[in-house]
Amino acid sequence: MSNSVRVAIIGAGPAGLTAARELLREGVNVVVFEADPWVGGKTRTDRLDGYQIDASAQLFGSMYTRFLALVDELGIRDRLVRSPGRDALWRNGRMHEVVYGSVSSMLASGGLPLKTKLRLGATYLPFLTRHGADLDLHAPERAAAAGLDGESIASWGEREMGSEFIDYLVYPQLTGYYGALPEETGAGLYHVLARYGVDVAVFALQGGAATLCEVLAERVRAGGGEVRLGTRVDALETSSGGTTLSVAGASERFDGVVVATQAPPARELLRASHPALAGWLDGVRTRPALTVGLLLDRPAGVRYFGLSFPKDEASAVAAICVQENKGVDLVPEGRGALVTFVRPDVAPGLLGADGRTILDAILPDVRRAFPGLESHITRARVYRWPAGNPIVYPGYLAHLGTFRQGGVEKNERVVLAGDYLYTPSVEGAVTAGTTAARRLRERLTAS
Ligand SMILES: Cc1cc2nc3c(=O)[nH]c(=O)nc-3n(C[C@H](O)[C@H](O)[C@H](O)COP(=O)(O)OP(=O)(O)OC[C@H]3O[C@@H](n4cnc5c(N)ncnc54)[C@H](O)[C@@H]3O)c2cc1C
Repeated sequence: MSNSVRVAIIGAGPAGLTAARELLREGVNVVVFEADPWVGGKTRTDRLDGYQIDASAQLFGSMYTRFLALVDELGIRDRLVRSPGRDALWRNGRMHEVVYGSVSSMLASGGLPLKTKLRLGATYLPFLTRHGADLDLHAPERAAAAGLDGESIASWGEREMGSEFIDYLVYPQLTGYYGALPEETGAGLYHVLARYGVDVAVFALQGGAATLCEVLAERVRAGGGEVRLGTRVDALETSSGGTTLSVAGASERFDGVVVATQAPPARELLRASHPALAGWLDGVRTRPALTVGLLLDRPAGVRYFGLSFPKDEASAVAAICVQENKGVDLVPEGRGALVTFVRPDVAPGLLGADGRTILDAILPDVRRAFPGLESHITRARVYRWPAGNPIVYPGYLAHLGTFRQGGVEKNERVVLAGDYLYTPSVEGAVTAGTTAARRLRERLTAS
């Protein structure tokens, strides 16, 4: 493709930067616009007082085939380190170790009630095996076509597995790792995640989760593309001559655009000139997220990485991630750091509060889980994610099916990329970036 073709990518998260690199490799001239002064989006790594704090995304799974292929292509496999995968569940006032990606560990853990373990073995694992072909991380809409996404995982689980399955397994996993509640999450997505979760290894990135986006941005620049940080796109307008972006009071014209922001800003950008896309985006729901980094002058003194809480066993916290136990060197020698995820039902109400109020809300749970550690906190920082995580509500996978059929974007040269097009994960974002680049390239070549 001639490099006189100019494409704008809005958003420098994993979806946008993956798309930028793919297009650049095809000879397209790319400009990436990022509102924040850093790359990464929801994979941000905050460098603070010599600590590298993964402010949101923490780990990558062995089922992330597109992400792993990209890591190999970028030549950074040596920075990907297998994490011990040791987690813990708080139950009845104390913590119990569990390795979520291993069925034998889950069955042995004191964290899960006996009834849940028996039902896992007798009912849920055979169910996942039976429906394996319809539970695909890269085509989650198949679960809807197979009739597996008509209700929430809360109602499916209560009926098929009993309430303890929801309280001690589904709730801690969804609230801790996906910022979503069982009542609002479709059974289809949970079954997809559970199918892969039965046997999974987890990895962390040396240098922090943002390393992927930082290396992608480096390669885009080295290949002649531009990455403009601290540059918000305010408006977008398409005419027969191309698409014009308004950036800091000026206008720039492009032959094509990848809108790789979270769904709410994408909807606002597209409302006036691309009503069909904006209308489809109306069906994407999100829930704000809130995380708090706590720097410690000593390690937390536990063996596990992620501690999650069942429903009603914590007042404001869904999970606490012990950074020094991730398997990579993110924390100075002899120190520690915690990243605390606020409960998804509590986060929206605290999003606009000042830092002190947010800290006061989470500290009682931190004190309970780590007695005596509070006096070792040297600094705290709050991270706000107003567009948060996509909520894969019951019926959303069918909505995704309509997008996949191609009728929403039609043959437009403005395409969408973002984790909400697959699953709310870095794998979903990388897959969305790759497929968006492919769709746009085909449309640019066809014209
Ligand atoms: C608390 C939390 C924990 C998570 N943990 C994990 C995990 O452990 N593993 C995992 O795989 N996934 C995890 N995720 C999910 C993962 O981080 C996301 O799925 C992924 O980052 C989505 O990538 P994206 O490129 O689609 O969007 P984003 O990462 O959200 O990037 C979108 C970018 O667009 C920019 N933008 C928005 N509007 C504009 C505009 N108008 N102009 C210019 N730029 C704009 C934003 O600033 C942002 O940088 C987590 C998410 C959260 C919130």
